[in-house]
Amino acid sequence: MTKVRDNSSESSAGADVELPAEDQPSADLQAEYADLVENVRRYRFAYYNEDSPLVADAEFDRLYQRLEEIEAQHLALVANDSPTREVGGEVSVVFSPVKHLARMYSLEDVFSLDELKAWVDRAQASVENIRPGTKVHWLTELKIDGLAVNLLYRDGVLVRAATRGDGTTGEDITHNVLTIDGVPRTLKGKNLPSEVEIRGEVFIPSEEFIKLNERMLADGKPPFANPRNSAAGSLRQKDPAVTASRPLSVYVHGIGARTGLDAESQSATYALLEQWGLPISPYFKVLESHEEVLDFISYYGEHRHGLLHEIDGIVVKVDSFDLQRALGHTSRVPRWSVAYKYPPEEVHTKLLDIQVNVGRTGRVTPFGLLEPIKVAGSTVGMATLHNQDVVKAKGVKIGDIVVLRKAGDVIPEIVGPVMALRDQQDPPVRDFVMPTNCPSCGTPLAPSKEGDVDLRCPNARSCPSQLRERVFHLSGRGGFDIEALGWEAAVALTSPAEPDEPPLTTEAGLFDLTPEDLANVRILRDVKKNGEVTGQQLVPYFYSRGTEKKPSEPNANTRKLFRELEKAKAQPLWRVLVALSIRHVGPTASRALAGAFGSMDRIRAASEEDLANVDGVGSTIAAAARDWFAEDWHIEILDRWAAAGVRMEDEVDESTPKTLEGLTIVVTGTLTDFSRDEAKEAIIRRGGKASGSVSKKTDYVVAGENAGTKRDKAEQLGLKILDEDDFRTLLKSGPVKSAED
Ligand code: NAD
Repeated sequence: MTKVRDNSSESSAGADVELPAEDQPSADLQAEYADLVENVRRYRFAYYNEDSPLVADAEFDRLYQRLEEIEAQHLALVANDSPTREVGGEVSVVFSPVKHLARMYSLEDVFSLDELKAWVDRAQASVENIRPGTKVHWLTELKIDGLAVNLLYRDGVLVRAATRGDGTTGEDITHNVLTIDGVPRTLKGKNLPSEVEIRGEVFIPSEEFIKLNERMLADGKPPFANPRNSAAGSLRQKDPAVTASRPLSVYVHGIGARTGLDAESQSATYALLEQWGLPISPYFKVLESHEEVLDFISYYGEHRHGLLHEIDGIVVKVDSFDLQRALGHTSRVPRWSVAYKYPPEEVHTKLLDIQVNVGRTGRVTPFGLLEPIKVAGSTVGMATLHNQDVVKAKGVKIGDIVVLRKAGDVIPEIVGPVMALRDQQDPPVRDFVMPTNCPSCGTPLAPSKEGDVDLRCPNARSCPSQLRERVFHLSGRGGFDIEALGWEAAVALTSPAEPDEPPLTTEAGLFDLTPEDLANVRILRDVKKNGEVTGQQLVPYFYSRGTEKKPSEPNANTRKLFRELEKAKAQPLWRVLVALSIRHVGPTASRALAGAFGSMDRIRAASEEDLANVDGVGSTIAAAARDWFAEDWHIEILDRWAAAGVRMEDEVDESTPKTLEGLTIVVTGTLTDFSRDEAKEAIIRRGGKASGSVSKKTDYVVAGENAGTKRDKAEQLGLKILDEDDFRTLLKSGPVKSAED
């Protein structure tokens, strides 16, 4: 172990740093180091000076960490101007340079809760050394994903605003900052400091960001990749009028140089800043232990999307100014603060291709095939691009590096291309061309009505893609509920690799299938060796492979499929309606139609007006249903299913008393004796309405285990909330008796 003094430190604590024994860096390592230094500089320049990042933050952070790792092991390599010793960002020539009175720092990052805990323990131990017996209070707050500003007030008047720049010198953006609502020109109150630098973050609120990008698209301009870049781009404008047109906000979170300001802690300063009329974040807390800090992190990890602005982490600061001073800082970061970064929700990846998918109703949807990449906890290899107009508006081309975003549970979205990298792609990028014919059956595509952007394949009956999607849909939980008929089985039934003629060419034949029909169905499967795909092979899908001794026979899933098909024939009418893939007719409309007419024949015979008059149906659904029944091949489905024994009429259950007539009931959470569908059916059978959303019109909310926001809303509205026992009583005896119980 070598012991050296950390010369880069400006800390008053001036701690010695233990260094590991040094290996002589190899030529390869030196080259890797030189590359890293160059890339980190290049990426920083694009990020801070051009507001147009070349790589995603997570990738930048990875390179930066590797740089730090090499430097920690090979001190001799470290150049004085290494990027790890500088606050990122330079001063551009567009704005006048201004020197900050006190330096602006970056923050030390940690990427796991273990690292965070270790940092907190280390900081507490350092405090113990310097001020024995002192317990640290942790000011914990959101890390706003915006850009840093330094506001200089003299005798309460804003005299200058600057970007962070390289930490010593920033860019003068006073005129632009003055256009931001919430930045006071003069501070309120008496006894104002004669001079104070106030540090904060400029950001675009999440909702405003969505609106801003909609406007950009409407004007034919490429959308911003994320709120941080749009805030930075908006603030660093030559013309303040452009800045004024952008919905910028600011929160202040610290002070720099100060004269005539007496405050003991960060939190006390926040109170002062608020009194002076400066906007402070409503989300900070002063916490006592690392457990509380970890709770804060996990709470906002779950709730980060309901906030006013985007965050990329949590900042933890030692609250006391005395301790902050004692801990000091390195040349780049304070030692009294740390930033915990959440896993990234935005990454860059290559758009390998744009293909189209033909959906259940024939809609042809382009989607991006991506180099698989991990984002927000899952690996993404595909993302929808909706239609050809969206592809054009986003400006993406095949082969581009694109920004991919997946926020929480939201489906992944291709935000747009990284334009600066477009020219470097090999092979060169190319435009996506929307096909004119269906890629599945070759039929010319057309919009379903004039002016519709979506193109459809009109060959509804025989297009293999549409049939496959319909077969998959009819087996779903809301339809016949056939577990053994998943996506792969739907492919094998409708478009297997062999034989030429698939077992199903229309869903009309579903209930006529026999195991023998499936004996020769083969699909292509990957062949793997030691986990690597080495080729593809045709394998039987519904049957075992068979040997001389043991002939091929239906496999377990196939036996299950036939058992489930038999059971499906007895499903109630509404599920049969769902299974038919009538446009706009989902479970709610199906229940309404089944409830009102009781049989398929009566629904088929009803006029459009009669259908539209059913509560929960309306004119669009009625028209779609009438169109559906007008097609001969649809009637063939009904006839063949009925002939195979599928129930086309609900049993009229006169024995069930209509105890819930006129009542609207919402079921939420998990019940022990009822599935969600069973609970809904029990309500409907008794004349009640089973609704999915809580409103003032709801009469009862049945809350099972883990009932979430619906229960909260019911409480807010003062609605009657029932547990499972109350629900049983309600079903049996109606509202009067249950209220007495
Ligand atoms: P940082 O973003 O990790 O943290 C420091 C900054 O956080 C401060 O300067 C401050 O402005 C801000 N901040 C937000 N909320 C705060 C709060 N409540 N209290 C205190 N400060 C708060 O550090 P940085 O040096 O600004 O930037 C480094 C990060 O920027 C990297 O981790 C990377 O994610 C990103 N970056 C990306 C690229 C790229 O090419 N994608 C390039 C450079 C930097």
